[in-house]
Amino acid sequence: MSFLDKIKARLGKKVGDSMEKAAVPAKEEAPKKAAAPAKEAAPAAPAALSPELAALLPGAPPGGKIKFAHYWGAACGGCDVSMLDIDEKILTVGDMVDIVFWPIAADGKVSDVEALEDGEITLTLFNGAVRNSENEHMAHLLRQKSTIMVAYGSCAMLGGIPGLANTTNTKEILDYVYTKTPTMGAFQKTQKSPVIPQTLYKAPEGDLDLPVLYDTVKALDQVLDVDYYVPGCPPTQKTIAVLLGALIDHVYNGAPLPPKGTVIGAEDKTLCEECPRKKENRRITKVVEPHEIDVDPELCLMDQGIICLGPATRAGCGAPCTQAGQPCRGCYGPTSAVDEQGASMLTALASLFPVLDDDPNMGEDQIIDIMRQVKDPLGYFYQFSMAKSLIRRSVKEKGGK
Ligand code: SF4
Ligand code: SF4
Repeated sequence: MSFLDKIKARLGKKVGDSMEKAAVPAKEEAPKKAAAPAKEAAPAAPAALSPELAALLPGAPPGGKIKFAHYWGAACGGCDVSMLDIDEKILTVGDMVDIVFWPIAADGKVSDVEALEDGEITLTLFNGAVRNSENEHMAHLLRQKSTIMVAYGSCAMLGGIPGLANTTNTKEILDYVYTKTPTMGAFQKTQKSPVIPQTLYKAPEGDLDLPVLYDTVKALDQVLDVDYYVPGCPPTQKTIAVLLGALIDHVYNGAPLPPKGTVIGAEDKTLCEECPRKKENRRITKVVEPHEIDVDPELCLMDQGIICLGPATRAGCGAPCTQAGQPCRGCYGPTSAVDEQGASMLTALASLFPVLDDDPNMGEDQIIDIMRQVKDPLGYFYQFSMAKSLIRRSVKEKGGK
């Protein structure tokens, strides 16, 4: 009995009336199980299934289960976990897909992927940025084997937090990590010469190699063709429900998929337009962090001196951060009208400086003083979007430092 079958059997006994309805077709719309090939049919459901559980178990799609892969590049693992965090809807996924490759959740080898026909995987969710040769190789391999390739999460879509490494380079990162951190610095003092990981070691038994770390971190669509984007750090249950809903409708009912390039579960307007906080466009004279003030629960955070990336960020998440009293950090990326999320935010911030005729006088020194209060402006304004920004990375002038 598979892992998911065990869950189904248990839920068959325990499921209660409170179970939330999943984004599956209405029961009457679901295809009859007899339509699926015998070998693909879902295990017989227990007789005691409640209507809620039965709705979660539509059986295999008419053409048989689709093949599914989920892979991580340069990522923290949160995106993988987000797919497992969809509660009982995971049962519908279990009915709909055969997992052919998902290293964090199921055993599988790269050779299994290589053995597939081109396009044989219906859907691959690729999370994480591309920052080393292994990420890039796997991204190309999965693209070749997949019909639908989704940049899943902020790092795959925008480069994400790994993209902040574009402010430095591989040599400086390795030097810092392996010689300057306290633990490694102490270790290196015990060695005759610095011990730094090599990418190739010729052992008597054969070559041993490690992925090559790149100087420039890239978003997925900077290395290959992407069909859809799912924003979020990590994607929310609501966004995943939209993605699953579209897929379920496609594989069970033959409905067309969204147009290529769609940012799933997001809107092309700014977060401020869906944020419930009241905007008064008050002038900023001091920058503060949420823990430094008694945050007004209804007023716009920018009006309270807290820098919020809402004006430069795409809507769709429902503004959970600002509703919890924390500023938006921009994980949905900019709208389609904006190429440069950081610059867009700088503009929004500057528009709140008291420099208009009817404002109290403020000189350049005072403006510089306000800006100095922004801790780590590059990391703040480009927290998720450095790799996809126009500046993309820091560079050194020829002969410069
Ligand atoms: S700036 Fe932030 S807090 Fe203010 S309205 Fe926009 S999203 Fe909401
Ligand atoms: S409010 Fe901003 S940081 Fe929070 S989930 Fe939404 S887009 Fe991401």
